[in-house]
Amino acid sequence: MKTIIEISQLSKVYDTGHQALKEIGLDIVQGEILALLGPNGAGKTTLISTICGLVSPSSGSVTVDGHDIISGYRETRSLIGLVPQELTLGAFDTVWNTVQFSRGLFGKKPNPAYIEQLLKDLSLFDKKDTELRALSGGMKRRVLIAKALSHEPRILFLDEPMSGLDPIGRKMVKDLLVDLRDQGTTIFFNTHILADVESICDRISIINYGHIIVE
Ligand code: ATP
Repeated sequence: MKTIIEISQLSKVYDTGHQALKEIGLDIVQGEILALLGPNGAGKTTLISTICGLVSPSSGSVTVDGHDIISGYRETRSLIGLVPQELTLGAFDTVWNTVQFSRGLFGKKPNPAYIEQLLKDLSLFDKKDTELRALSGGMKRRVLIAKALSHEPRILFLDEPMSGLDPIGRKMVKDLLVDLRDQGTTIFFNTHILADVESICDRISIINYGHIIVE
């Protein structure tokens, strides 16, 4: 089993002086679904944001497929898809254009067949020409997942992916994550809901007060 992400002695102290991550050490294995479980404020978003290059680490190191997240940012970012926690989407773009544009940002050639399948897997294809402002919260979350997958990343990070979804939406996302894993994508998501992780995860890490306390 190959380690695809290596996190070593990773710490983050915000400008406020708050230490959100305390010497985190964690290996993520290629092709697994790993869940990060912990209460509000434990450091889950900080850890994901740091690996994805949105938050700068105070000390320690992270490599993604052998590339350092700082010196090799372009390589690491292109390997990663990120589904953020907040529903950060424009209003007037259509679903199709939003997902296609995201793919273009990573320098990938258009692939309408891939985007069509992605939207079908997320039950969004019938909404492909709908403006984002006309979608429900659960649909917007699924658009964020489609955007994150638009450039066919090898690793997918999801920050609270089930939040705001009804039981059918949660099942759809869980099934999609399992399918992606079975096709070789490595998946890392965080949550504070144990029921979301038990059925689909290969491994669980528990974080509290910035420490990984159990793996
Ligand atoms: P939740 O489940 O509520 O999303 P979390 O586990 O994702 O929580 P983080 O968002 O990583 O937790 O926050 C960890 C700690 O770092 C919290 O105490 C939070 O207040 C603090 N924190 C997060 N972002 C910042 C920031 N930009 N500046 C200062 N402190 C921050």
